[in-house]
Amino acid sequence: MQSLLTGAGVKLEGGPGDQGWEQAADLDPAALWDAHRQGKARLLEVVAGWARGRVGGSGLDPEALTVVFARRFVPYKRATLLFTDTERALELFANEERPIQLLYTGKAYPTDEEGKAILAQVVRIARSRESSGRIVFLEDYDMELGRLLVQGADVWLNTPHRPEEASGTSGMKAAMNGALNLSVLDGWWPEAYSPEIGWAISEDVSAKGDEAEATELLRLLEEEVVPTFYDRGTGGFPLRWLDMMRASIATVGAGFNGARMVGEYAERYYLPAHASGAPGEAPSR
Ligand SMILES: *Cc1c(COP(=O)(O)O)cnc(C)c1O
Repeated sequence: MQSLLTGAGVKLEGGPGDQGWEQAADLDPAALWDAHRQGKARLLEVVAGWARGRVGGSGLDPEALTVVFARRFVPYKRATLLFTDTERALELFANEERPIQLLYTGKAYPTDEEGKAILAQVVRIARSRESSGRIVFLEDYDMELGRLLVQGADVWLNTPHRPEEASGTSGMKAAMNGALNLSVLDGWWPEAYSPEIGWAISEDVSAKGDEAEATELLRLLEEEVVPTFYDRGTGGFPLRWLDMMRASIATVGAGFNGARMVGEYAERYYLPAHASGAPGEAPSR
């Protein structure tokens, strides 16, 4: 499958760890937007295909701001944080002028009753009349759907309860594919975040608890994410958004890749373990 960068006419050069991600900062905005729109159209086509024939169908629009929440439905990930004040959140999705839509997907462990209850709540919200067909729950989250989602999302949403997110690798995958992250400052995000590449719920807000975080999340969407996405310059391009996409692809691609992971495992763990000469010794419990 063609990647966003090759779609936008960029060939990455160099070996592992030096894959030329910084070149993304110089991408032609029009080519980048075109490649991104293709990825989004592909995603929404697949989703519309699934929704066809079902009650309600889908009210998804390929030009609308598309937010994705794709994760395991474990309680600490707080899939329903956005809907803490359900009424106010649903108002956001009823906006006709600057439409925003939300794709949800994920799985709960078969034995996790709380996770399953959260999933059921998401499905209820998505199927409600008030969601205007703009909130869609996608079944059977797997690698294939994950790939379509990271290639088609405008915004990758993550709302873990601090400090329980170990990493949040899907946000890195999404960023490398051109999505902008909107996340609680947890896992990988405190290291990567800057206002040039995405949005964050600050640690101060998180310290005040769920309700404060939910309010801040809605504020960020209403006052920052939506206006930036719909601020269109010549040719209909969202120029500030495209600046953020370029900076995000370059920063995250260069700093949060598999080569770094393997290198750090080797330097910090495998080589010291080897040098300490304790073959096969199990970590102490
Ligand atoms: C990347 C990925 C994950 C892990 O995502 P996190 O953000 O670390 O929770 C889970 N499932 C699929 C299908 C993925 O592609």
